[in-house]
Amino acid sequence: MSTDPNCIFCKIAAGQIPSRKVYEDEEILVFHDIHPWAPVHVLMVPKAHIPSMVEVGPEHAPLLGKMMALGPRLMRELGVSNGFRTIVNTGADGGQEVGHLHIHFIGGPRPWAKG
Ligand code: 5GP
Ligand code: ZN
Repeated sequence: MSTDPNCIFCKIAAGQIPSRKVYEDEEILVFHDIHPWAPVHVLMVPKAHIPSMVEVGPEHAPLLGKMMALGPRLMRELGVSNGFRTIVNTGADGGQEVGHLHIHFIGGPRPWAKG
């Protein structure tokens, strides 16, 4: 599995930087965002270093499918019962700040969700 020693999410996946973990298996990690935008805001990452959605290829389809199916289950377990947002920022103009593919799952009652 490819990792990048300078990547903050690779370090979190390796346990070198602490995080509040929600879920972990051999290829996926989910942890609370350090600056949550809402009552529940978690980040789901592949443990392999995939820089962004641009680098996703057909070989990643099973992994990404697993990630999309896992998100709703975890949000339900985190007490989110009335919907949530799912965001993937890609590249500089896409607002991506961390260069390791991640899916934001953001939920809980707040007016911002309308915007
Ligand atoms: P992006 O803008 O790249 O889509 O989102 C990166 C997210 O990672 C931001 O919401 C930011 O708060 C979060 N983040 C950045 N560094 C850390 C960290 O060290 N730990 C955790 N838990 N979240 C982080
Ligand atoms: Zn990485």
